[in-house]
Amino acid sequence: MFADIVADLKLRVPELRGRLIANQSLAELTWFRVGGPSQVMFMPDSEDDLAFFLKNLPAEIPVTVIGLGSNLIVRDGGVPGVVIRLGRGFTDVTIEEGSRVRAGTGVPDVKVARAAQEASLDGLVFYRGIPGGIGGALRMNGGAYGRETKDALIEARGVDRQGNIRIYKNADMHYTYRHCGLPDDIIFTQALYQGTLGNPAEIAAAMDKVTESREATQPIKSRTGGSTFKNPPGNKSWQLIDAAGCRGLQIGGAQVSELHCNFLLNLGGATASDIETLGETVRSRVKATSGIELEWEIKRIGIAG
Ligand SMILES: Cc1cc2nc3c(=O)[nH]c(=O)nc-3n(C[C@H](O)[C@H](O)[C@H](O)COP(=O)(O)OP(=O)(O)OC[C@H]3O[C@@H](n4cnc5c(N)ncnc54)[C@H](O)[C@@H]3O)c2cc1C
Repeated sequence: MFADIVADLKLRVPELRGRLIANQSLAELTWFRVGGPSQVMFMPDSEDDLAFFLKNLPAEIPVTVIGLGSNLIVRDGGVPGVVIRLGRGFTDVTIEEGSRVRAGTGVPDVKVARAAQEASLDGLVFYRGIPGGIGGALRMNGGAYGRETKDALIEARGVDRQGNIRIYKNADMHYTYRHCGLPDDIIFTQALYQGTLGNPAEIAAAMDKVTESREATQPIKSRTGGSTFKNPPGNKSWQLIDAAGCRGLQIGGAQVSELHCNFLLNLGGATASDIETLGETVRSRVKATSGIELEWEIKRIGIAG
């Protein structure tokens, strides 16, 4: 448990409209279902509310943003400072002139794929299989089946740590594989995508194919964080992990998936430390057998328990 600073914050920003909660458990907000609380959880009710909060928050208080927690390990000691989660107020999806789709960053990727399909717009089918939200997709350059966020994004809106609202063109995002080059403190609030006119039945069929392929090849109903490590250039992480003999490897309540060995699982009673230690063990065994250093794709936040 952290010191409760919510009363102090409320005194500083009495006009705030969003919710401030002390020691909010984060485990239930992540796919892995592990980890400690956030010292403060803030759920702004609009972009202006978020900007106002950040302008008035003392600079020494750290800020971390989370989305739907599908690419996240929250460490067992929790996250000091403020954790921001965008919900209501960030959930609009609209179709705009010129085959464009605008989405708030609190919207799940799947809903954006569906809204585009219903408007006969192709180009966002790959979002059908990514279980995160648009904020996470912008930060991670989320992608699948040969397409990624970078290929569809026109621009993103965001708020910086000083509370300034900014627009970032696609090139400003400095995207590479599963990485956005903007500073970590930018909180994205909205994305604008370019679609192309297509046939809604064909787009729907492509989305169904994505669903089928996911169910066959990934443990999508498990407590997991998706792909744990980025694929090193010219290699597949799962093959390196398999070759290092790590398929099914277990530490505490955490296991390397038998179905897809770049996925780690919480079998039920895992701690964040079990999962992270398992990941580090896999990294060192892969290094020993192949000479290659795997890089974490999953983001780890907070402090050890
Ligand atoms: C079963 C499974 C399958 C998956 N398959 C894929 C796949 O095919 N392709 C793929 O790319 N990923 C995949 N993932 C990983 C994950 O879904 C993506 O990385 C997703 O984009 C993360 O979104 P999220 O909302 O869950 O973000 P979170 O996990 O909550 O956060 C991830 C990162 O995004 C940042 N972030 C979140 N919201 C914002 C915001 N509003 N502004 C700024 N930063 C923000 C966080 O700070 C953190 O650094 C999979 C995960 C699972 C569990």
